[in-house]
Amino acid sequence: MNIDYRAEIERLKSKLDVTVVAHFYQRDEVFEMADITGDSLELARKVKDDDSEWTVFCGVGFMGQSVKVIAPEKRVLMPKIACCAMARMIDASYYDDSVAYMERHGIAREDILPITYINSDATVKAKVGEMGGLVCTSSNAYKIIEKGLESGKKILFVPDRCLGQNFAIQMGLKSCVIGEGECDPQEADIICYNGFCSVHQLFTPDDVHFYRRKYPDIKIAVHPESDPSVTALADFVGSTSQLIRYVAELDPEQKVVVGTEYNLVNRMRAKNTYVLSATKPECPTMNETTLKDLYLTLKSIEDGNPIHEIEVDAHTVKYANLALERMLAIK
Ligand code: SF4
Repeated sequence: MNIDYRAEIERLKSKLDVTVVAHFYQRDEVFEMADITGDSLELARKVKDDDSEWTVFCGVGFMGQSVKVIAPEKRVLMPKIACCAMARMIDASYYDDSVAYMERHGIAREDILPITYINSDATVKAKVGEMGGLVCTSSNAYKIIEKGLESGKKILFVPDRCLGQNFAIQMGLKSCVIGEGECDPQEADIICYNGFCSVHQLFTPDDVHFYRRKYPDIKIAVHPESDPSVTALADFVGSTSQLIRYVAELDPEQKVVVGTEYNLVNRMRAKNTYVLSATKPECPTMNETTLKDLYLTLKSIEDGNPIHEIEVDAHTVKYANLALERMLAIK
């Protein structure tokens, strides 16, 4: 039987009390079916204000968890429970090891302010929340770190070393990465965990030099998950939403090369936009969700047998919620 997935998804959306949410990195055909789209920060804010009983989240695992943490009464389903490679690099025990590393270097636990990038498991967010810390996204990391510094504590930044290093450079602060060279927490303001995004690591200074040689007037715009050796050469560094705005405001004749996930760059504008890599920088986990998966998930609600439901235990919800709400309270 041939199913018209688009028509079926529309039918199910109008019948059910459901909101379909999609991150910017989703495939076009999935992205086009969503009621709410955005980057991690926009999605967290919009979903919090949404009153549908069901949320079907097209993204990676930590995003569905975040909805459940912010709004535990919601039923959250994910067409694919795909796990972000960066989020997988840290769990609660690696987090504890990082705190212990700082303690071994003479920083007392109460003098540490942990900040976790939203790309982390709910159990890591809960650890951070329990220690009085907070979540950040690439859109608000500057503000969150600035606020964190007011506490006078050392910042433990997990899991993305690039984001931590890039914002430290931008703010004129010292950073170091645990496990990379000499990392003395006494000497640094921001102590970074050694995680990274495998997609944004594809961009290199050679890619930047290649485009500058080819088109001397080209603008280079990159995401802060890129290595500091790349962001140092860019004209603009920003989150996905900030990159979209930056490119949209350029003169249509202005060439621009963008260093972030392929689906997003491909959607920006047809003319004079290039991707900063010889290899197609697709996020494999974000690309796992298909139109058929979305249809099957919605159909499972209609059939009364929901699939891929996100569950987060009460302890994790309580403390991860503290970390997320502290972020959302900072405007
Ligand atoms: Fe995770 Fe990188 Fe994919 Fe974003 S692009 S979901 S950080 S692996």
